[in-house]
Amino acid sequence: MKVLKFGGTSVGSAQRMREVAGLVHAPQLGRRIVVLSAMSGTTNALVDIARLLYAQDVAAATAGIEALRQRYHDVAQELLPGGHAPAAIGQLDQHFQTLLDLTTAPLSSDGERVILAQGELLSTLLFHRYVTQVLGHPAVLLPALDFMRLDQDDEPDAAYIREHLAATLAPHAAQQLFITQGYICRSAQGSIDNLKRGGSDYSASLIGAAVEAEEIQIWTDIDGLHNNDPRVVPGTYPIRELSFDEAAELAYFGAKILHPSSVLPARQHGIPVRLLNTMQPDAPGTLISSRTGSEAIKAVAAKDGITAINVKSSRMLLAHGFLRTLFEVFERYRTSIDMITTSEVAVSLTIDDPARLPQILEELRRFGTVEVDENQTIICLVGNLLQDAHGAAHAAFAALQDIPLRMISYGGSPNNISLLVNTVDKTRALLALNEGLFRKPSP
Ligand code: ADP
Ligand code: ASP
Ligand code: MG
Repeated sequence: MKVLKFGGTSVGSAQRMREVAGLVHAPQLGRRIVVLSAMSGTTNALVDIARLLYAQDVAAATAGIEALRQRYHDVAQELLPGGHAPAAIGQLDQHFQTLLDLTTAPLSSDGERVILAQGELLSTLLFHRYVTQVLGHPAVLLPALDFMRLDQDDEPDAAYIREHLAATLAPHAAQQLFITQGYICRSAQGSIDNLKRGGSDYSASLIGAAVEAEEIQIWTDIDGLHNNDPRVVPGTYPIRELSFDEAAELAYFGAKILHPSSVLPARQHGIPVRLLNTMQPDAPGTLISSRTGSEAIKAVAAKDGITAINVKSSRMLLAHGFLRTLFEVFERYRTSIDMITTSEVAVSLTIDDPARLPQILEELRRFGTVEVDENQTIICLVGNLLQDAHGAAHAAFAALQDIPLRMISYGGSPNNISLLVNTVDKTRALLALNEGLFRKPSP
């Protein structure tokens, strides 16, 4: 079995859906599960509808729903000629009715999740109808809500997913092509939930792990994972091969092409992940596997929205157990720490989720003086640093000589150097690193 995931831009119009249908039809693919995102712009529009409902602006939310309905009716008309459109539109309208029903009472967080789930339900509905009715190819639509599930800690429940996906596939032993929704799932309690923004990549990897797929393909709008953020830096280029660890670090530290957790299930099961470009299907893209290349620093990524916390305490001097007590505060508030540096009397660390920051700070103040810096960015340099005989770390620091570095973390992992800078310096830092590290394009 192979898993092929297509992102929002890849299914963003009737024309794009036709192209994706062509790509997934290749008979040499064998049995495959196609995981689709919502059409581009849809999840943002749904987020906006929920925001308007929270603000009790029912008129604007309703207008947003009607605008979305019109867009989907237009796509259905274009994609499904020959009398197939009306039935599809009837089915689409059931989803728009779900949205309209949620405008009649104050929005709850459960209601919000139902809103956010509609995008993937709509895109898969249209795509499945196109493949089966217009192209006449057999394909089975697998409802992701029947098998994608979170556990009590809001983490994907791998055992549940494996068992229920197998049961969902069982009646279709002779089928070759399956279509399902990315992003959406159920909570441990069974209510509709999601895998957070960009979560369709994570769905694909979880599904790949559940069926022990031979390969997971992530099809998007760029030809693989680039050596630097192409939204910020001109002249970036795709990296042909990354190890699971390198890709996991880049995804976690801001390479938007992959959801932060999406490499983990594939890594655990040793399933290669290929990043491919829907607009340029013949480009080689990036292969993520257990192999690592030899370059010392392959890529740079940046993660915004970081908060740095510095705790200065005389109690720390020569005291064992201090760090444990400090970390327990973060554990109690279920807040993970990304970077950490220590000196004899102080600890600096960073978090990316400030939701419980006030409670955390209140407890930390019992240790000593606490300082907080918001609007920080982690810049992560990833590669095979064991090969760092040529001083790539030195080149990186030389490139950044004019940029104030708030924290540096080196040595924690053989493939990562992390730096903390003020977010206002991010673009300058990424450009400087590009000059200093990657001036020559890859062969
Ligand atoms: P999809 O909708 O297919 O999931 P995304 O928008 O989530 O696509 O991810 C693809 C985008 O990620 C690219 O268009 C690119 O702008 C952005 N991106 C950020 N960093 C990188 C990187 N290092 N390599 C490739 N793309 C990146
Ligand atoms: N549609 C969801 C989002 O926009 C999930 C995804 O595209 O991966 O975040
Ligand atoms: Mg994405």
